[in-house]
This record gives sequence, structure tokens and C-alpha cells, in this order.
Amino acid sequence: MTDTSWTSKIWNDSHPSPKHEVLCRHCQARNRVLVSRAAIEPEKFICAQCKQPLFLTPDESFKSLSSRSFEHKLDAGTLRTLRAIPGVSVLLKTLFKQFNERAYLYNLTANAIRCSEDQFPELVHIVDCASSRLDCHFDYNLFFTSMPFSNAFTSGGSEAILCFSTALLNHLDDDELVFVTGHELGHLMSEHMISRLLLEILLSGGLIALPEIARYLSLPIQLALFKWIRCSELTADRAGLLACRNVTTALNCMMKMAAGNDPGVTKRTTLSLPAFVEQAYQLKKQDSDLMDSLISLFFIQRQTHPFIAWRVLELIDWVENGNYFDILSGKYI
Ligand SMILES: [Zn+2]
Ligand SMILES: [Zn+2]
Repeated sequence: MTDTSWTSKIWNDSHPSPKHEVLCRHCQARNRVLVSRAAIEPEKFICAQCKQPLFLTPDESFKSLSSRSFEHKLDAGTLRTLRAIPGVSVLLKTLFKQFNERAYLYNLTANAIRCSEDQFPELVHIVDCASSRLDCHFDYNLFFTSMPFSNAFTSGGSEAILCFSTALLNHLDDDELVFVTGHELGHLMSEHMISRLLLEILLSGGLIALPEIARYLSLPIQLALFKWIRCSELTADRAGLLACRNVTTALNCMMKMAAGNDPGVTKRTTLSLPAFVEQAYQLKKQDSDLMDSLISLFFIQRQTHPFIAWRVLELIDWVENGNYFDILSGKYI
């Protein structure tokens, strides 16, 4: 049984839970919902007027959900800029398809296990479940591979490629895997892979060809691209939450990713989600200190993933500001 008392670490007497106005998709009546309660049991909310469920049920699909509905604003800004440069988008897509996508597929077909209805169909069904909920129907190639650390990765543009590590499969239950799959599908929906290729070109081949001074001048661009990549993870987390539709599951999954799955921990104790959420909020307070902010900048500037605690805070912030509930009630692009 998952501990849902983490909400009291965020919303309490000193910081009461906000209420959010939700428009009923059946009768258009306005309903006010308490965010702290809707975050853990959205299925219990019904419209005060027509008595229909306010939010989509776990297996209802979004209809033609656009990734623009949930893209993090820093991610969306960069994607808009990249898409607006004439020719770049087409050039990157061609490069991606001809090299990156083929290389990934070749490597995984050579070294990993491809899943199908005849091979690990249970994993296929988990991916189908997340795809159906997000209403994104990529032709995908699904693999798993033996790896000692929890990881999932995605590639592909026209044809999606998804791969899960065995450590991740050991570690997560089915609902948490739906969150992870939704996260990976979010990357595909926003075409993050295509834009990431630009960073790879800058960091490898493109930079080698540049003279020293140009490489130095491109440093701010590289750091800006790293920052965008970290924000693209926040977009993907939102897609993961829209797929699993349970904030506790999403946060639990993040805690497990930070904790690993070593028997030295798991045999001795049960991890506490409220304590983990509290830890993230402590970091938020520390980041208001200048020295801690500089330390954080030093650690993060060349990372492709945001700190786990930031991902927790950003996801909770997205839930708190109501955008998650709007989408879950059928109001999206
Ligand atoms: Zn209604
Ligand atoms: Zn990701």
C-alpha cells in the first residue's frame, strides 16, 4: 500500500492547499476541487451538476493530445526556436533517420531482446497501455537489455525505439513502468530526440571542425542547450504523469530511481515518500541561499538530467498550478 500522506508535507496549516476550478467536460458546469485531494484520488471527483466523473478514468484515452499542452515553458521556447529556423528541422530529421535511428536499431537488435506478442508480451502491453492513454500511436520497436542500473531510453523519429534495463524492470511495478513509458513517449511526442541531435553535433563532430576560438564562443550555446535538455526532462515527466494518472506513483518512481534497488537498503527498510518529498522541499529552501545556488549551478551545468529533487518539485508545482487537472478533465490543445 503506497503512503499518500506526502501531501501533508506540502499542503498544511502554514501552506493550505489551493482550490482549482475545473470545467465539467459533460455539462460545462464549473467545479472547484481541492488540489491536495485531487492529486491522490482524482477518480473520486464527480461533477456537482451532472454527477459524471470530472476527470478521465485511468483507461480513457486523450483524444489527439498535443505535446504543446504539457510542454515546460523553457522546453517549448527552445523547440519553437529550433522549429522556426528554415531547413534545420528537415535537415536534422534526415540526419537522425539516416544515422542515429538506424544505429540505435542495429545496436539493440544485435545486443538486446526485442519484445513482441511472442517475447515478453507483458512489457508490450504496458507500453500499449501508456500509448493508448496518451493517444500517441507510434510504430515502436521495444527492447530490454541486461543492465545493472535502472534506465530507460528512447530514440527514433518516424519509428520509435524504446529500451528498458533489467534493473528497471526489477525495481518498478507495472504502474510505475507506465509512468516511465509515458515519460519516454513524451520525449517522442515533443520530438526531443531530433533537437538533441543538434547538441550531439555541437559537442562532437561539429566542434572538432571548429577553430579554438569558435569552440570557446560556442560554450554559452552548449550550456544553453544542456539547460534545454534538462527542461525537456520536465516535459517528459509531465507526459509520464498523464500516462499513469497518479501523482503518488510518479513521485514514488522518482524516489526509487534515486534510491536504487540494492538489497542493503531494500532488505533493511521501507522507503518513505513523505520524507523524500520533505527532503526535496529542504533543497528548495537551500537554493534561496547564494552559495548553495552557485554550488547547484556548478553541479548541474553540463548534466542532461535535472536533479531528482528538482523533478519532484517541478512536477508538484505543475499539479499545484492546475494545468495537470485541466488536461485530465479534457481541456487541452
Ligand atoms: Zn457536469
Ligand atoms: Zn527522459
